[in-house]
Amino acid sequence: MTLIVQKYGGTSVADCARIEHVADKVCAARRAGHDLVVVVSAMAGETDRLLGLGKSISQRPSAREMDVLLSTGEQVTIALLAIALEKRGFPARSFTGAQVCIRTDKEHSKARIESIDDGKLRASLAGNCVPVVAGFQGVDESGDVTTLGRGGSDTTAVALAAALKADECQIYTDVDGVYTTDPRMVPEARRLARVTFEEMLELASLGSKVLQIRAVEFAGKYNVPLRVLSTFKEGEGTLITYEDVTMEAAVVSGIAFNRDEAEITLIGIQDEPGAAYHILGPISDANIVVDMIVQNVAREGRLDFTFTIHRNDYAQAMEILEANLKRMGAKRVIGNDRVVKISLVGVGMRSHSGVATRLFQALSEEGISIRLVATSEIKISVVVDEKHLETGVRALHAAFRLHEPPQQEHLPQPATAPVRQGGAVG
Ligand code: ADP
Ligand code: ASP
Ligand code: MG
Repeated sequence: MTLIVQKYGGTSVADCARIEHVADKVCAARRAGHDLVVVVSAMAGETDRLLGLGKSISQRPSAREMDVLLSTGEQVTIALLAIALEKRGFPARSFTGAQVCIRTDKEHSKARIESIDDGKLRASLAGNCVPVVAGFQGVDESGDVTTLGRGGSDTTAVALAAALKADECQIYTDVDGVYTTDPRMVPEARRLARVTFEEMLELASLGSKVLQIRAVEFAGKYNVPLRVLSTFKEGEGTLITYEDVTMEAAVVSGIAFNRDEAEITLIGIQDEPGAAYHILGPISDANIVVDMIVQNVAREGRLDFTFTIHRNDYAQAMEILEANLKRMGAKRVIGNDRVVKISLVGVGMRSHSGVATRLFQALSEEGISIRLVATSEIKISVVVDEKHLETGVRALHAAFRLHEPPQQEHLPQPATAPVRQGGAVG
């Protein structure tokens, strides 16, 4: 008998009719002979609604109380799904995160899972009962409810699959797999049959919200077979797996984008040891996460220094820098919070050159100027003005022919040059 952890996202449990549809799917899997643990999200829009309620009372509500509030969304759907399963004659039991001892650290709103006691789940399974577990929530050592960050039900599912050594973790959502880019933006986007953990991790961290980053990290670390599937359409979905020789030989597997970027430049910094430290020290002291960093070679003892952050932190970061201009030895600070990041991801970039050139060509043909570029072994990211987001993503999707399954002649050029450390992206 195989053990499967199935997770159903917000749109899949958006109302009672959809919950009944999920119950039918769970029953079908049980009839097919699988043991099942089911994880559910809150109904679509519910977490945002609860967030709004908290914020309507206080602009700075306590993180502890917000977690108590937000975790209620998933408590509704576990009970409704258990009721729907029992109605169909399948014994089921709902469990909150605390009830199945999903122990996390104390970081409210972005807690990390530390351990799971699988006793109750195993007992439920042994009694032929389907456990229905609330996603997105846990409990810290003092018994306080915590939440795992937006999209965190994915992580709950993968963590349960790892703890139970399940045969597969299936993430059911409103798309039938992971696509070459968000199919809502590019209708020609193509479903990938397989994608590597490494690529999925990059896609998720660069903005593809189809899976939470931590879920992918967890699955890679504990070797959990992970599949993304549609709740509403039958199909194979996308398997997230280790790279193997039979996988599609794509140089670029997908395009991710992030709308939440802001860019800040310090002009005329004195070129001295510690210059970067004096700029970014106060920023990190304020708990602001810095993403891309670009520093130019100094000319006549002065240099410019640019970095990007989340748009929500822009005003605070500008305030901190304005107040520290003298100490940093900078002439002035300028910023732009209307920028976005577009990233190409693919393990094939390690062994192929010419990717960056093709990217620059495609964007220039659309009249899009690139503000910043960053590369790693398997990705290239560019920051552009937000008005160019859609045109840029579509142009790159077409330039790399991502709508077609990869074939040899579509590769920019064969790997003739030795692979350099940091990727052959030039
Ligand atoms: P759920 O509520 O089921 O967790 P999410 O909204 O979190 O669903 O994730 C599914 C959404 O992810 C899709 O509706 C799609 O718009 C978006 N998405 C972004 N990038 C991709 C991609 N590369 N492939 C598939 N979906 C993507
Ligand atoms: N309900 C939570 C959210 O909206 C968790 C999840 O859906 O995965 O972020
Ligand atoms: Mg999600």
